[in-house]
Amino acid sequence: MSAALDRLLVILGEIADLQKSAALLEWDEQVYMPPGGAETHGQMVGTVRKLAHEMFVTDEVGRLLEQLATDDAGGDPDSDMARLVAVTARDYDKARRVPASFVAEQARILSASQQAWFQARATSSFATFQPHLERFIELKQRYISFFPPAAHPYDTLLDEFEPGTTTADVQAVFATLRPRQVALIRELAQRPQIDDTFLHVPYDEDALWAFSRTVVTAMGFDWTRGRQDRSAHPFATGIGSNDVRITSRHVPKEPLSLIFGSVHEAGHALYEQGIAPAFARHSLGAATSLGIHESQSRLWENLVGRSRPFWSHFYPALQQHFPAQLGGVPLDRFYRAINRVQPSLIRVEADEATYNLHVMLRVELEIALIEGRLQVRDLPEAWRAAMQDYLGLTPPDEATGVLQDIHWSIGAFGYFATYTLGNLISAQLWNAFGAAHPSRDTDMAAGDFSALLAWLRTTVHAPGRKYVPKEIVQRATGGGLDAEPYLRYLEEKYRAVYAG
Ligand SMILES: [Zn+2]
Repeated sequence: MSAALDRLLVILGEIADLQKSAALLEWDEQVYMPPGGAETHGQMVGTVRKLAHEMFVTDEVGRLLEQLATDDAGGDPDSDMARLVAVTARDYDKARRVPASFVAEQARILSASQQAWFQARATSSFATFQPHLERFIELKQRYISFFPPAAHPYDTLLDEFEPGTTTADVQAVFATLRPRQVALIRELAQRPQIDDTFLHVPYDEDALWAFSRTVVTAMGFDWTRGRQDRSAHPFATGIGSNDVRITSRHVPKEPLSLIFGSVHEAGHALYEQGIAPAFARHSLGAATSLGIHESQSRLWENLVGRSRPFWSHFYPALQQHFPAQLGGVPLDRFYRAINRVQPSLIRVEADEATYNLHVMLRVELEIALIEGRLQVRDLPEAWRAAMQDYLGLTPPDEATGVLQDIHWSIGAFGYFATYTLGNLISAQLWNAFGAAHPSRDTDMAAGDFSALLAWLRTTVHAPGRKYVPKEIVQRATGGGLDAEPYLRYLEEKYRAVYAG
């Protein structure tokens, strides 16, 4: 190893330690911190992240990266070290382009904007939030101006969350997805609705936690390198791949929320636990994108967790935990109930069949705002029109409409698309795994997920950031991003669920 590489690895290792410390502090904020600690914690995280940033954007790091690129010219561009240098150079270029004064201004705007959003949502008043959103749109346009012009200005925002994926890529898959998903929802609405009343009665919370733990263990979650706690909003966080933490919550009379929430977050956690140990303290040792992350949580939650083979294995155990609620409910009735489709106003409560429509609506509005085709003041009306068009619903107020998500209040533009990309990629991976493992469904019905996890480990988890999302999909499936597998999965599954 060259002296330049040695030195770079020392610097990146220390930066990785700081980033993990910040992640641990942020976990603590959600799980154990008393409310009074919020300000102190905010300062601590701010300082740790600032130190990490300052250690990275030095001229020395720039020189090391240049030297390593020159030294390695003509070498294998796909070697771990070549990729490490390329990914680090990409991060470095991004970090240097955005002036520190801009980052500070954005942080100030963010805190005011978030407070305004909380207040606006509580009073269902878009006018309270409107000036803050307008400032954020201006800020995002300025952010875009720091980068070389892309084919579409939104590309620069998307690249933050989904490196290498463009607005044109997203618009192409959405164009395939939108009409068929809308048609499917309309078709299902003509069928008699499924009875799921037995899923909206009290269930013992401790028994739900115990059952969820059984499922998460069966998935392959390594408890010696992870833990599960309670928090108001479920999430997963990796403090390196040897300490991966998930949280869940119990919603009274909604037993599935804890079960599927745990499975979803464990799907994220398996990804983090599976990143190659050799990458632990440098730029490749993290998830490659939010879309790939979501493909893992969605694969486990929906393709596995809402499937019939999965429940043919786990349902008897669930019935034993809850004889009063489920003793008289046969498997088929349970399976149909957990797959009930009901268009609703709120994204986070949306079922698998309607979820993408919520996401597409937001992404389309974001693109229109960034292009300047849509003015912020016209956003609530544009929202209502799209909701009516896609889901046949009109929100009665702005709290359950345009103000429902936190993302815009914290300036997270370019984020929403990753939810739908995750869904699409989950089905592509599922098909690729099934083609390589014809016993996929019988294994699942035996509660055996070892082959699935091993396949995901090599295809998706271990490479970390070595490959961008498009490369992960290409290597796993032999093709590009494609909406067709997900559409076919939805259409076949839900026509069958609603035929019974
Ligand atoms: Zn997720």
